[in-house]
Amino acid sequence: MTRLRPFRLHRPTTASEAISLLREIGPDAVPYCGGTELLLVAKLGFTAFTDLVDLKQVEELSGISDADGLRIGATTTHRQIEHSQTVRAGWPTLALLEREVGNLRVRNVGTIGGNLAFADPHSDPATFLTAVGGYVTIVGADATRNVPIEEFVIAPYMTVLGHGELLESVHIPSLDPGDSVVHRKMSFHERPAITVSVRVGVSDGAITRARIAVGSVGPRVMRAPAAERQLDGTQINGGAASAIREAAATAADEIDASADANGSVEYKRQLVRVLTARALNDALSQTGSAPVSLM
Ligand SMILES: Cc1cc2nc3c(=O)[nH]c(=O)nc-3n(C[C@H](O)[C@H](O)[C@H](O)COP(=O)(O)OP(=O)(O)OC[C@H]3O[C@@H](n4cnc5c(N)ncnc54)[C@H](O)[C@@H]3O)c2cc1C
Repeated sequence: MTRLRPFRLHRPTTASEAISLLREIGPDAVPYCGGTELLLVAKLGFTAFTDLVDLKQVEELSGISDADGLRIGATTTHRQIEHSQTVRAGWPTLALLEREVGNLRVRNVGTIGGNLAFADPHSDPATFLTAVGGYVTIVGADATRNVPIEEFVIAPYMTVLGHGELLESVHIPSLDPGDSVVHRKMSFHERPAITVSVRVGVSDGAITRARIAVGSVGPRVMRAPAAERQLDGTQINGGAASAIREAAATAADEIDASADANGSVEYKRQLVRVLTARALNDALSQTGSAPVSLM
């Protein structure tokens, strides 16, 4: 690991000031928040910035509120989300997920905005947001736009953010009655080897909607649309166990997995199959439906 090259540090207090700095200085200036990703890659010599624009004091990018669904400001740390009473009360799965991100040091300074903007495929929040249908708000010099999380990341470590744009906040819709969300992960090293989030809606004893998101096994977080369709209309008290097994097997087939230090493509598919089945089973149990035997 090399030493950090000298750089200028700017500490704006408003989003427009931060955006102006980025635009005036140009591509040599980059935003940063907790620095858990950026300073790591900088020390490895993979960056060429001369100026850092610290976002931590920008008021508009902070805070958690639940006026219309859940809004989490981009500079909110993992630990603040984990301990937020608003999150714990309305979106307990997210609070639990945040408790398992990295280690305490990462959770204390790492932010949800930094996690999503860095676009590492091994992301718990991105997997969760994909399953619940979340979106992000992006603020630029001339406009503010909302982008569904599925369109935000375009490739590993690449998002739709243009230079001079900031990730302002993350939005999670309220759950409908009868909906439940479950997140499962497994890690062998620091980053997760697999992340699975499912959202299942049940009405009149049948599954009315299912969303399955799988992350950390391939180039980006993916939905499993064929598996989701398979679950539509499944009666909870008759055949749910076999429907879950079949949907999990379909998800394993349709996910784009890649071989890496965590295992082969075949092994990743097996992880997808097992964790998807467990997550679906837990989600059904949480909707008040009888727990399903997967044996
Ligand atoms: C040891 C370790 C273990 C980890 N384990 C996990 C894990 O289990 N699960 C998981 O999901 N993640 C994990 N992570 C990732 C962690 O969640 C992120 O490192 C952290 O959230 C990044 O936030 P940050 O504020 O430090 O980002 P920074 O390093 O400050 O920034 C990251 C990138 O985002 C850009 N950026 C930051 N904020 C904004 C913004 N508001 N608008 C536009 N661009 C912005 C920066 O320019 C930079 O390119 C792990 C990281 C480490 C180092």
